[in-house]
Amino acid sequence: MWHPFTQHGLEEPVPLVTHAEGALLHTADGRAVVDAVSSWWVTTHGHGHPRIKAAIAEQAQKLDQIIFAGWTHEPAEQVAAGLRAIMPESLTRVFFSDSGSTSVEVALKMALGYWHWRGEDRHRIVVMENSYHGDTIGAMSVGERGVFNQPYAPLLFDVGRIPFPAAGAEQQALDALEALCRQPDTAALIVEPLILGAGGMLVYSPETLAAMHAICARYGVLFIADEVMTAWGRTGTLLACEQAGIVPDILCLSKGLTGGAVPLAVTMASEPIFEAHYSTDRARMFFHSSSYTANPIACAAAAANLAIWREEPVMDRIAALAGKQAAWIEKLGQFCHFDNPRTLGTVAALDLRTSGTSGYMSDLAPRLMAFFRERDVLLRPLGNTVYAMPPYCVTDDQLAQVWNAIGEAVISF
Ligand SMILES: *Cc1c(COP(=O)(O)O)cnc(C)c1O
Repeated sequence: MWHPFTQHGLEEPVPLVTHAEGALLHTADGRAVVDAVSSWWVTTHGHGHPRIKAAIAEQAQKLDQIIFAGWTHEPAEQVAAGLRAIMPESLTRVFFSDSGSTSVEVALKMALGYWHWRGEDRHRIVVMENSYHGDTIGAMSVGERGVFNQPYAPLLFDVGRIPFPAAGAEQQALDALEALCRQPDTAALIVEPLILGAGGMLVYSPETLAAMHAICARYGVLFIADEVMTAWGRTGTLLACEQAGIVPDILCLSKGLTGGAVPLAVTMASEPIFEAHYSTDRARMFFHSSSYTANPIACAAAAANLAIWREEPVMDRIAALAGKQAAWIEKLGQFCHFDNPRTLGTVAALDLRTSGTSGYMSDLAPRLMAFFRERDVLLRPLGNTVYAMPPYCVTDDQLAQVWNAIGEAVISF
């Protein structure tokens, strides 16, 4: 096998996982590991939520797969209706795909199609420094450039860039955005609202996000919110955009959409974007699909997730976890030293003070990962940034295990 984001030349160990429940992963060699990264930010309620498991099993008996061009099915109808009920009212259209990257590709194509069919030559996408939107060519084009995508740089398209609005530097970012929005060829802004995940869990303020939205609205530039990581309560609210009181024109959702059980994504769009493609002319249809668009089994898992959100006290669990994460990072700060402690909802991060190189490509992160693995904790630092993002069902003991390991790491590295 060829594993993702893995350098096989360094013989990084690849443990075999046999089963998982709640926040615990069980390995073939008998270890129980706390999943403190929610299996790459997807697992919200915990592994093996009974309702999601049951929904998948039941749907597999009824309808496994059906072409979604010109056909529909009950689980997809349920997901669309469920999303319409809890997501902002102006996001009237639900387009299915399979991954976060694809939901971003779809969002970019929708934005360009919108301007094209309105007869305006707008095609420039504005992005934020340090962003991550996925690993396909379009998603890489709107993400941060660097060692991750250097070989592919000749194929990546040009974008407009604004600086990251760090505390104290918000106005530069807003001014840069306004200058780009004034250009007549600017089509859309794409951002990760409030927190840049893969860029290092970098947090910026709701006020800045609201100001960015206002600038886009003033110039008619479409606002695309990539909430692939931030949605489903991760930042303390259902959507991160809520904290800024804004509604995007296009919204990307994936990761927690099925509670993290199976892959599925949606791109939600406002009515004008749908209307720009609505016609009796076949040439104006939205030319995008994948074989498994709205796969019924994946949709059944998402419908179960939506039912969990409706019927279980998910927001209470999130608020409780958010409080515990904040308490742990504060407690840690009392007996050891690190930089930039930050929490946003259920996400908590800090930067290790290390001498020497600490970038993503330094050997610090793999050494830290091994250190945590020895302590039966799955953490995957980004350079010298250590973050914990556990499923909402994590127990107090499991959380203590995670933070004690982080505390030891702060002292040891
Ligand atoms: C993970 C992520 C993606 C990509 O999602 P995949 O399912 O891995 O393709 C896109 N945007 C953000 C903000 C992400 O965190």
